[in-house]
Amino acid sequence: MEQNHWWVLPLFVPFIPFPCGPIRFGLSFMKVETLIAGGGLAGLSCARELHSAFHPYLLVEKEREAGGLCRTVLDRGFTFDYTGHFLHFQKEEMKEWVLHLVGGGLKTRTRHAVIYSQGTYSEYPYQENNAGLPSQTVRENVLGYLEAALRRRFLGADPSRAGDFKTWCLQAFGPGLSKHFMFPYNEKLWKFPLSHLTTHWMGRFVPSPRVLEVLHGAFTRRPSASGYNATFLYPDQGGISILPRAIGRGLPGVWTGVGLRSLDLLKGKAHLTNGREVEYGRLVSSLPLPRLAALSRGLPATLARSIRDLKATSIYNINLGLKGKQPIPYSWVYFPEKEFMFHRAGSVSACVPTVAPQGHASLYVEFSYRNGKPDAGKLGKHALRKLKELGWIQRERQIVSRVDLNLPGAYVIYDGKRDETVAGLLAFFRKHRVLSVGRYGRWEYGSMESAMEQGLTAAREILGSR
Ligand SMILES: Cc1cc2nc3c(=O)[nH]c(=O)nc-3n(C[C@H](O)[C@H](O)[C@H](O)COP(=O)(O)OP(=O)(O)OC[C@H]3O[C@@H](n4cnc5c(N)ncnc54)[C@H](O)[C@@H]3O)c2cc1C
Repeated sequence: MEQNHWWVLPLFVPFIPFPCGPIRFGLSFMKVETLIAGGGLAGLSCARELHSAFHPYLLVEKEREAGGLCRTVLDRGFTFDYTGHFLHFQKEEMKEWVLHLVGGGLKTRTRHAVIYSQGTYSEYPYQENNAGLPSQTVRENVLGYLEAALRRRFLGADPSRAGDFKTWCLQAFGPGLSKHFMFPYNEKLWKFPLSHLTTHWMGRFVPSPRVLEVLHGAFTRRPSASGYNATFLYPDQGGISILPRAIGRGLPGVWTGVGLRSLDLLKGKAHLTNGREVEYGRLVSSLPLPRLAALSRGLPATLARSIRDLKATSIYNINLGLKGKQPIPYSWVYFPEKEFMFHRAGSVSACVPTVAPQGHASLYVEFSYRNGKPDAGKLGKHALRKLKELGWIQRERQIVSRVDLNLPGAYVIYDGKRDETVAGLLAFFRKHRVLSVGRYGRWEYGSMESAMEQGLTAAREILGSR
């Protein structure tokens, strides 16, 4: 379904300084200065910035609603996101940009994240909080960590030079923490050999505590403020979709339900799923990079072949609305052990009670999968059985809402081929006036903040080059 298309005429006609010549409209052909493909946070942020500089653009989004991964499903009074989506910032100017657009809708929330293993809940991050675990496990974890720290201090072991994630874990955390958490959790999440993963995705996502913190956490149970998301912003109403809605509010030139079908890189022409052909001056794409490459004509054969080297892990997310009081105080819980097929589960209503109606609570469960389709029936049964065993659900009759959401290709896999392949593709696209941005456009482990920032940066680059 095409929406807002009447906007395009008044938007484009007055802007004569289009570098490629006059703007022509036909039934199936048009020219635009900038075509934006993908209406998630990256694409919308790019459009917002171009719009504020009166620069002509057209944004096409294949889904009926813009927002990408930041859409929200409302069901029977419950608010469900595409799994937990919590807003945190590294850059003050990005925070200001968002707050200016969203207004007072976002509130600061405090994370309470834990790990469930060996029948007990321990505070996140596992490497820093062993209090409450069986004493044998604490001994293995803490002594292993001390030994690893001594090796670093006196034998020059340097995890930052470890070639792969498995070696990095052993050098940074020692064998105990690796065996009890880092290996089983990451194997379950990535579904990929850890010895073939690089460490380039980790950045701030894997906290590395100091020795004293590990010792302290072995004896004292306390919620920890470690990591990048100890507090985050989230609205009372509307779920995370209020963010893309605020960025996209009133934006002209946005076609939803219209996708990019193919791309002629040499001619600078895009074919859309509504049959239109669009000649563009610049293209900003936030499509997954291998998808963009697969749709492109004019890619050298080696680059076209290289997309086979780009891999990802997918997520199947089951959301439940429950009648009854809040079952757990945790925003999310990591499950490293094999008996749980899911790697993470949690309750957004534990930190944002308004996502569930009064007298109700919400839960979510995340399964990762690779190669093939998830079996919704099997995963659902497993989730219910385990949630009952954990005491999060008492009776199935409590469940008044269930919303399953599938996130194909959710987590990009950083293996030995990823960096070079991505760099080659990005450079080639850039040479052909295509800026590939966003979490999947850059094929990276990025946040909402980075997707918005990349959209803004692409727009500023285009504005700067006029
Ligand atoms: C499980 C999970 C949890 C996350 N949790 C958090 C969190 O708590 N905090 C945080 O900061 N970040 C989180 N993120 C990251 C965050 O969701 C992303 O960084 C951000 O939403 C990416 O926005 P984007 O615009 O780059 O991509 P997307 O949201 O993927 O947008 C790309 C758009 O392109 C469209 N598209 C695809 N093909 C075509 C086509 N052929 N033509 C036209 N349009 C097309 C898609 O429909 C989509 O709307 C999480 C991600 C995942 C997977």
